[in-house]
Amino acid sequence: MKVTADRDRCIGAGMCVLTAPAIFDQDQDEAMVILRDETPPEDARRVVEDAVNRCPSGAIQVH
Ligand code: SF4
Repeated sequence: MKVTADRDRCIGAGMCVLTAPAIFDQDQDEAMVILRDETPPEDARRVVEDAVNRCPSGAIQVH
């Protein structure tokens, strides 16, 4: 699975980090999303999809 994050769309809400902290982080200054793992294992798909669904800005995608 491949995860992408568009930092131009991110509004720093932090839902992704709360939902999937192994995959997503936020930078200290602007709270914008940082990908900790761009290619998580397939068994993480459900939690990554939860994070995608909870992101209010549509900044993260799973492929
Ligand atoms: S949930 Fe969406 S808007 Fe919030 S920090 Fe994550 S990517 Fe950014």
